[in-house]
Amino acid sequence: MTKDFGPRGPNTVLTHGGYDPRDYHGFVNPPVVHASTVLFKDAATMASRGQKYTYGTRGTPTTDALCEAINELEGSVGTIAVPSGLAAVTIPLLGFVSACDHILLVDSIYNPTRRFADTMLKRLGVEVEYYEPGLGAAIADRMKPNTSVVFTEAPGSNTFDMQDIPAISKAAHAGGAVVMMDNTWATPLYFRPLDHGVDISIHAATKYPAGHSDVLLGTVSANEACWERLWDTYLTTGVCAGPDDVYQVLRGLRTMGLRLERHQESALALARWLEGREDVAQVLHPALESHPGNALFKRDFKGSSGIFSIVLAKGGQREAHAFLDALKIFGLGYSWGGYESLAVHVDLSDRTVSKKDYGGPVIRLQIGLEDVADIKADIERGLAALSA
Ligand SMILES: *Cc1c(COP(=O)(O)O)cnc(C)c1O
Repeated sequence: MTKDFGPRGPNTVLTHGGYDPRDYHGFVNPPVVHASTVLFKDAATMASRGQKYTYGTRGTPTTDALCEAINELEGSVGTIAVPSGLAAVTIPLLGFVSACDHILLVDSIYNPTRRFADTMLKRLGVEVEYYEPGLGAAIADRMKPNTSVVFTEAPGSNTFDMQDIPAISKAAHAGGAVVMMDNTWATPLYFRPLDHGVDISIHAATKYPAGHSDVLLGTVSANEACWERLWDTYLTTGVCAGPDDVYQVLRGLRTMGLRLERHQESALALARWLEGREDVAQVLHPALESHPGNALFKRDFKGSSGIFSIVLAKGGQREAHAFLDALKIFGLGYSWGGYESLAVHVDLSDRTVSKKDYGGPVIRLQIGLEDVADIKADIERGLAALSA
């Protein structure tokens, strides 16, 4: 597998991590191994399962290449690859909660995570509670003797609320809980959860790692304390990703650093420009000094990615739709992290403990790799439609 070159920078890990061409005849990229059956050399080896690969659901050279690259990026002991970002949320939750447990989830959570907790986990007898994203160390007061998991996501979905991850991790650990973090927004390039006390780092690799809006994949990475149980959950549930998707995500990783730099730069330029406009009441981007989470962001994060929200100065659904329908470059669609710009009118009605009136429609913008001047002109078209 990967040759140990000693400590190396994140972009070197992105380009060389997970696979050593000398392991496979010098081919620069790893083979895409399509496999269910793996043959054993004799009966004794079969009986003891005494070889590295034993069956397709238990890992292949292709999944190992991706998972080892992610381990190096995350600083994790082990990583599993699952078929979607949503599975990367549900599988570790299934693995670490039991009936009669209590779990805490941040209120600015990715909505399908909430749906899973509110339906399936509740049905299985788990007590589900939401907390305000700004809670920080005070989460200690919400901990119960049976709190098994504290689930974080920062910045939060759609409103990009920051969380004090080290303080939350400390309080959660003091209460004996495992800390999970959906780190999709920052990627391990801009935030490494395990360095800040998180036990399990979750990614929708569908987003920046895949980068082209054509692949669904999730990764879950664990520290030493949680790896055995996560791996056991993976084997028990059989939720393994297909080899072609895994290969595409490893391929995407090679250029992710470069793409993210551009996403970051363009998004920041546009966010700063939008902040100065009268038809925009607020720009929800944690790297802006005006964002309430900016101090935490500057303390913990190394960079920002390409997705943020704006609050239109006035209006409701009609104005939001007028803005969206005037856009020509931005596509109207879910997900993000691809090369192309996308916009969506955000629905915040699912929030429970952090409900807030933003005073106007909230529009989420994923800034793609197009020229900034063109994206800007497109947003201007949208804003012009508001006053029309
Ligand atoms: C998109 C997303 C997911 C789910 O990823 P899919 O691959 O679309 O299932 C999970 N968490 C966050 C924060 C996301 O944005």
